[in-house]
Amino acid sequence: MGEKIILVWFRNDLRVRDNEILLEATRKADKVLPVYCFDPYYFKTNADGSLKTGAFRARFLLESVADLRRNLQNLGGELIVRTGNPAEVIPQLAAQYGVSEVYHHREVAYEETNISEEVETALWNQRLNLKHFIGHTLYHKEDLPFPIKDIPDSFAVFKKKVERDSDVRTGLPTPEQIHTPEIIDAGEIPALKDLGLEEPQDDPRARVKFTGGETAGLARLEAYFADNQQVAPTKGRNGSTVDRSSKLGAWIALGCISMREVYWAVVKHENDKNAHHAGMLRMELLWRDYFRFMFKKHGKEYFTTDVQAEAALPEKQRLFEQWKAGNTGVPFVDASIHKLNATGYISNFSRQMVAGYLVRDLDIDWKKGAAYFEEKLIDYSPASNWGNWAFVAGLGHDPRDNKYFNLAKQAGELETNSEFISTWAPADVIA
Ligand SMILES: Cc1cc2nc3c(=O)[nH]c(=O)nc-3n(C[C@H](O)[C@H](O)[C@H](O)COP(=O)(O)OP(=O)(O)OC[C@H]3O[C@@H](n4cnc5c(N)ncnc54)[C@H](O)[C@@H]3O)c2cc1C
Repeated sequence: MGEKIILVWFRNDLRVRDNEILLEATRKADKVLPVYCFDPYYFKTNADGSLKTGAFRARFLLESVADLRRNLQNLGGELIVRTGNPAEVIPQLAAQYGVSEVYHHREVAYEETNISEEVETALWNQRLNLKHFIGHTLYHKEDLPFPIKDIPDSFAVFKKKVERDSDVRTGLPTPEQIHTPEIIDAGEIPALKDLGLEEPQDDPRARVKFTGGETAGLARLEAYFADNQQVAPTKGRNGSTVDRSSKLGAWIALGCISMREVYWAVVKHENDKNAHHAGMLRMELLWRDYFRFMFKKHGKEYFTTDVQAEAALPEKQRLFEQWKAGNTGVPFVDASIHKLNATGYISNFSRQMVAGYLVRDLDIDWKKGAAYFEEKLIDYSPASNWGNWAFVAGLGHDPRDNKYFNLAKQAGELETNSEFISTWAPADVIA
């Protein structure tokens, strides 16, 4: 009998640490074939001229794939990189290398699961199995105290029950070595221009530099706790806590670091000077799980109204264009949008404010805003983005009063000359 080769299809799990598909493949097979496929679907221009993936996130992705390749090479392996439809690329590589099985992490959102299904069908035509693993959430689905169909729609109930009745698993070890078959053509990582994008300009006003990859993600995690060592929680002038969020979202979204990795760092710091930040971060991770499990439970229900139909209304379209340009005349909203456009990142508070303003004050379909965020956000993640937008629009499944409504009201009450506003939308820009 020949060697057993397992193809590991990397998607939003671009790491070697705590990565079950990679570890399991090294244990079950003689050789492992790690593959990343740039799918043109994610770099298309939408019908309204917007992009599915903007330049900041695309650059972050390219850096993350390059870092994954280096990390695999350090373990003696290699990463095959291709550009094309995964339903063609994965089966073709499987045939070329005599692969006996393909591993991947199961996705939850509609487009991502469609792609998995197409790959699964194409592989099955070659009598090959696509094996699904669960690795994107903090709590493993099997460890939840309820089946997916019975997950509480209320975040508060979900949090209480999960924290009481479930445990987060410990992280998995990194493979000591990876044996790949002889690789003829590992493939070049494309440049931004190959994906139809231009190099984004780094804005000197941005405080955090987002560099893609597991290496930078782990460094960011460490720096977060180091930075916050001396800093007591403080209140901003509008009464909200000054933004000391982790800025880890982009690395989490692409799986450069696992949720468990972040969680166990949190636990380590829960009893030291970082206790406050650690506690907050623990809760934020739960929000992420909540939206992901809500997607699993409610699926396509999140996407019901017709974005194209509303785009046809010229007045609404004009207002939407003003919102996208940060030209609404509401200083905080405009400053937030300017920052989003210039860096790919805004705080959760800013996201709530601009989303609330679009949905409630301008009465524009929330899905148009969500699609805009999909293009711009460096940490875009389908369930987190569409779930939060639906929540802001009052369409979420959490039955309690929507707190975003009150926040949106606050927008008008925020000072017009705060440091944030003067930094990101000076008066002459807003006017
Ligand atoms: C309209 C809207 C759209 C959003 N779109 C996204 C998105 O595409 N991707 C995304 O990761 N988050 C999204 N969020 C949630 C949240 O704003 C960001 O996760 C957070 O601001 C990222 O900054 P951080 O990494 O410093 O987060 P921290 O506050 O440090 O939290 C740590 C991590 O927990 C997770 N998290 C925190 N809050 C939430 C939340 N409300 N929902 C889901 N996950 C959360 C993220 O992975 C985040 O990186 C959205 C929120 C709103 C209101």
